[in-house]
Amino acid sequence: MKKKILVIHTGGTISMKEDSETGTVTPGKKNPLTESTNQLLNLADLIVVEPFHLPSPHITPKEMLQLKKIIEEKMNEDLTGVVITHGTDTLEETAYFLDLTLNTHLPIVVTGAMRSSNEIGADGLYNLISSIRVAIDEDSKNKGVLVVLNDEIHTARNVTKTHTSNISTFQSPQYGPIGIITKRGIFYHHTPTTREFYDIEDISKKVVLIKSHAGMDSSLLFAINQLNFEGVVIEALGQGNLPPATIPGIKSLIANGIPIVLVSRCFNGFVQDTYAYEGGGKKLKDCGVIFSNGLNGQKARLKLLITLAKTNDLNEIEKMFQA
Ligand code: ASP
Repeated sequence: MKKKILVIHTGGTISMKEDSETGTVTPGKKNPLTESTNQLLNLADLIVVEPFHLPSPHITPKEMLQLKKIIEEKMNEDLTGVVITHGTDTLEETAYFLDLTLNTHLPIVVTGAMRSSNEIGADGLYNLISSIRVAIDEDSKNKGVLVVLNDEIHTARNVTKTHTSNISTFQSPQYGPIGIITKRGIFYHHTPTTREFYDIEDISKKVVLIKSHAGMDSSLLFAINQLNFEGVVIEALGQGNLPPATIPGIKSLIANGIPIVLVSRCFNGFVQDTYAYEGGGKKLKDCGVIFSNGLNGQKARLKLLITLAKTNDLNEIEKMFQA
């Protein structure tokens, strides 16, 4: 029986064209990928949907939730897998959102392109073909949401965009890809050890992400407290430390019951309660700050949005961030 793949086009450079006179890149009237669909039909039967056509900086958790619902609706139609095309700027966030909120063994692959459809060396159609090949491969089952570009397979949890324009932009710092794609096949060399699933129907909380720096004080934290945010993620220094002048702001947020999740602004490693000086990780943990191991800031923010859709209990949220 021919395999059946749900292809969801959402926009991004992968479905844009470059204007040869101005060099600017924009979405056209027709998605160049839907025009290429015939070339893909010998790989699998395709169900193609295009719920929206957005550059990925326009994507919000609302669109991510819409994608989750589309996949859930179609999941029992004998699908072999799902491929989503997406702008690369926020691709890792949509992929991680779906990873946390979909409960399926089916391969779900998110892909994009760094060059638009009519540029020399355009990578969109190639990445789409690679993604369909990954989605129909038996070994891709039960691995969570995957991100496929440039002949590599990454997990949604670890992958991040590392370069503004290079086609090998998607990397998984500290871990590397879990598989590669060659002309002959799909080869996995690692299997993810943890899977998480949060059953949510709605996403409505306000969570802010801020980055720490030398000389940071509490002013932004006090302002956040006034602005009715329901959660805060801070990219902390090193192993999870903050300048001492931020402590009054941290304490005021925690006194208001607002969860603060700490990640590191370093690309590799975990945050820990190692240092006991003023502003050090040990002191922050004692104040009630939640430590998140290994996630980057933008993914920790999404995870906090999702966990807040389930509970306001800080202990419960802390447990979810230890997963
Ligand atoms: N700015 C574009 C977007 O994310 C970049 C891309 O798709 O590669 O929509």
